[in-house]
Amino acid sequence: MLIKSDKLKGILERAYEGKAPTREECVYLLEFEETSMESSMIRAVSNDIIRRNSENSAIILGQIGVDITKCPGGCKFCTFGEDHTAMVEKRLTDEELRQKVKEFVQMGDLYGLYLMMMHDYELPVLLNAINISKELSPKTTQIWVNIGDTDLDTFKELKKAGVTGVYHVCRINEGVDTKLKPEDRIATMDNALEADLELYTCLEPIGPEHTPQMLVDNMFIGIERGIYQHAAMRRVAVPGSPLAKYGQISNLRLAQIVAVVGLASFMVPTMAYLGIHEPNELSYASGSNIITAESGCNPRDTNNDTAKGRGMDMNDCRKMLWECGFDYLRRGDESKIALTKEYVDQCFTNQSEN
Ligand code: SF4
Repeated sequence: MLIKSDKLKGILERAYEGKAPTREECVYLLEFEETSMESSMIRAVSNDIIRRNSENSAIILGQIGVDITKCPGGCKFCTFGEDHTAMVEKRLTDEELRQKVKEFVQMGDLYGLYLMMMHDYELPVLLNAINISKELSPKTTQIWVNIGDTDLDTFKELKKAGVTGVYHVCRINEGVDTKLKPEDRIATMDNALEADLELYTCLEPIGPEHTPQMLVDNMFIGIERGIYQHAAMRRVAVPGSPLAKYGQISNLRLAQIVAVVGLASFMVPTMAYLGIHEPNELSYASGSNIITAESGCNPRDTNNDTAKGRGMDMNDCRKMLWECGFDYLRRGDESKIALTKEYVDQCFTNQSEN
C-alpha cells in the first residue's frame, strides 16, 4: 500500500465521497514536504475530483490594470506600495483600454474580464472602464472588478453597471504587512455578497515564512462565506519590495497548497473554479482550472505594462491549458469550446494575421 497513513487515506477517501477536510485536517495535509509521496497523492486526488466535476474544463480570465498610483494600501509585497514604489503614475487612456479589451475578447473564449484599480479608486473612472469593456465584450464574457475596500451602495451601483463579480481578499498578515484593516477587507467581501455579486477570493500572498496554520486560517475566510472561485498565490519577490528578502516558495509547494484549497473548497455549493497565480503546469495538474492573462499594471511586476513583462497573453494561456490536458474551455455563460491542438494553432494564426 502506497499510503502508509490511515489518517491521510481517510481524508482522501472522504473527499471522493464529497466530504471536505476540516481545518485541522488541512493543516495536516500542508505539513507534508512538497517532494513527498503524500503530497503527490494529495495533488492527484484534488486534480481527479475537480476534473471529474467540471467535465475536464478550464477557464481563461483576463485582467487589465487600469491605473497606477502610489497606493496607500502600502502592502510590503506589492510593487505599488506608497512607501517603496518606484513606479511612475499612469492611467490607461480610453484608446489603450479599448485595444487591450479587444485583444482579450477577439476569439470569444474569455470567461471573465477583470478591471483592476488601486486601493483608492475613482468611481467614475471605473464606471467608464466598465462601460468600454461591456461595449466591446461578447455577452459570454463576464465583467469583474478587483478594487479596494468598497461599501454596499457602490457595489450595488457596479452591479447595475453590469459587473458580475468581485475579486477581494483578506491577505495573510493583513494589517501587519499592509496598512489595511482585516475587518475592512472582510466587510468588503460581505458587502459584495450582499449586493448579489459573485465573490472570488484567494489564499495570498504565500511566502516561505507562513505556517500551515496561517495558510488554513486564511483560506477558510473565503470558504466560510460562499465563494464562487478560490485560488492560491505565491508572493513574488518583487525587487524593491520589503518582503522580497524572505524569498519565494517553489511552484511544487504552491501546487500542494492549491490542491488543499481545492479539496477544502469544492464542497461549497457555489464554488465553480480554482485559480493559481502565477500560472504553472504543476498547479494545473493539482486541481487548478483557472488561468489569467494580464495586461496593464500588475502588483507582481515592475513593468508598467505586464503584457511586456511577467503577464501571459491569451495564446500563452490556451497553449498552457491544452498542454495540461484540459478538454474544454468554458465561456462566461458556461458554454464549452473544445480545446484541441487545432483550436490553439488557429488562435495563434488569427492573432498573427491581425
Ligand atoms: S496589493 Fe493592492 S492595496 Fe496593496 S499596495 Fe498593491 S495595489 Fe495597493
